[in-house]
Amino acid sequence: MSIFTKIINGDLPSYKVAEDDNFIAFLDINPNAKGHTLVVPKKEENKIFDLSKEEYISLMDFSYRVAKALEKAVPCNRIGMSVIGLEVPHVHVHLIPTNIMADMQFTKKVELTNQEFVALAESIASNFS
Ligand code: AMP
Repeated sequence: MSIFTKIINGDLPSYKVAEDDNFIAFLDINPNAKGHTLVVPKKEENKIFDLSKEEYISLMDFSYRVAKALEKAVPCNRIGMSVIGLEVPHVHVHLIPTNIMADMQFTKKVELTNQEFVALAESIASNFS
């Protein structure tokens, strides 16, 4: 069972920003930039292109909605999107408020307090529709 399935099942905490029957979005715990969010299908699949085309399109649709909320909540030049999965083998889309190229490289990290994570998650969630 992946660490993200444990979050989905409520066995591990997360800073949740959005959820429906098939997807969940929560803040990355080790963010590249403030507001770095992960969008995760509840169905545990390892690789994104092992999803069916319908599941893939639904994931992109949900990610679009999360990105719109993120753009409103976190001022930035643009939202960058990336899919990797080398660390957690459960499909997830990284949505990253980006100002400089280094924001999209997974070497530059920002440290946030619990309070900052909570405030960010609340702000993104309140803009989600
Ligand atoms: P990757 O699998 O390489 O796409 O990266 C996995 C991402 O998941 C990394 O950016 C981690 O910081 C993030 N991550 C790992 N565990 C957690 C967790 N418990 N809650 C939120 N994000 C996590």
